[in-house]
Amino acid sequence: MYRTVLRFFEYCGEVSFHNSCSFNTAQRFGSSFNNFKNIVHVPSQSSLARERFFDVVVVGGGIVGMSTALRLKKRFPNFNVAVCEKELYLAAHQSGNNGGVIHAGICYKPGSLRSKLCIEGMQRLYKYCEAYNIPHKRNGKLIVATNPQEEIWLNNLYDNAIKNNVLDIKMLNSNEIKQIEPHCKGLKALYSPNTGIVNYGAVTRHLGQMFRDLGGNILLGFNVIRSRFVVTCGGLRADELAEMTGESRAPQIIPIRGEYFFLTDAKKHLVNGSIYQVPNPVLPFHGIHLTSQLDGKVWVGPRSMLASQKEGYNWSDYNIKDLWDMFTYPGLQLFVYKYFGACFHEFMKSANINVTLNKLQRYFPSLKLRDLVP
Ligand SMILES: Cc1cc2nc3c(=O)[nH]c(=O)nc-3n(C[C@H](O)[C@H](O)[C@H](O)COP(=O)(O)OP(=O)(O)OC[C@H]3O[C@@H](n4cnc5c(N)ncnc54)[C@H](O)[C@@H]3O)c2cc1C
Repeated sequence: MYRTVLRFFEYCGEVSFHNSCSFNTAQRFGSSFNNFKNIVHVPSQSSLARERFFDVVVVGGGIVGMSTALRLKKRFPNFNVAVCEKELYLAAHQSGNNGGVIHAGICYKPGSLRSKLCIEGMQRLYKYCEAYNIPHKRNGKLIVATNPQEEIWLNNLYDNAIKNNVLDIKMLNSNEIKQIEPHCKGLKALYSPNTGIVNYGAVTRHLGQMFRDLGGNILLGFNVIRSRFVVTCGGLRADELAEMTGESRAPQIIPIRGEYFFLTDAKKHLVNGSIYQVPNPVLPFHGIHLTSQLDGKVWVGPRSMLASQKEGYNWSDYNIKDLWDMFTYPGLQLFVYKYFGACFHEFMKSANINVTLNKLQRYFPSLKLRDLVP
């Protein structure tokens, strides 16, 4: 899926940036600067000769980059730390365009780093949001089985969640489902009361503000071209950044776009928290889910579509280089070969709204096509 590369390079050297836009740095140079060699070299657009020097540069103004930078600044207050982001605002990509769900760690492989980080991250995120009054809701999640096969998968998922020490997880029968989600139909459900929602874009911007308040620099509109001492948190560009820093590009990032519908205002009351289909354990897609967001809208989706461009948000967005990189990548060819049926199904969900509707009607039999808005 998405890979974030964190790499520290030798603590000396030079980082060069190509300023793709205006030079709108929060200019500040730390007092510790003289203790170190010139780690970063930033030529501005207006004058390439103009230079800015930093001790550490974090590449990428998404949630991973901003939290890394804030942590660095807190740990090493005298370091002159900068974040460089190629877009003109923070959280321009995944961090500002995701489902907003605070996951509780149910599905991850027991004992894996992912499962540990998810549970710890959830607790820390709630604490952070509470401490700084960032709007969020702990509105719970039901994973609902609607047939005997899904019941078997659900039981396995429950065992998985227990091994992962997921907090307060419970198995519910069909009557208990109604107490949580009165309109939802199902045979059995796994209930995670601690799953929640938040606007991750808002969290990223808040981290950015905290970082600035501590004297950190945020360079917007900057595109890294070469570096020797840097932390890369480039989201969908993590593989390219790895290559630029002399590392292997593998595994390559394949962009998948999540497409969502909304329930109409008249049907929003059907969902209180999040309702998920039981994932088929042998498939790489999570299946359909409905999530009530902070603004009251209910998102339905996602349909996972191969994007024709990294950071492309519409069917019409494409980039020849990204397409070439994707289709010549043996990892993608193997993935499509292995999961051809599932990939075709995702494509059908995207091409034909009735495929999505049929799935939804398993939970809400009265739903009609007119209740879904693109
Ligand atoms: C459709 C979808 C739904 C999701 N739903 C959820 C969810 O509900 N809950 C959840 O927890 N997670 C969800 N995720 C995952 C989550 O959004 C990501 O894991 C997270 O946002 C990754 O953050 P990031 O900072 O690594 O990447 P990003 O937010 O993509 O940030 C990377 C930044 O690096 C910048 N960058 C890249 N290259 C350069 C360069 N050369 N120079 C300067 N800047 C550069 C980019 O412009 C970008 O701003 C979802 C993801 C997707 C795609």
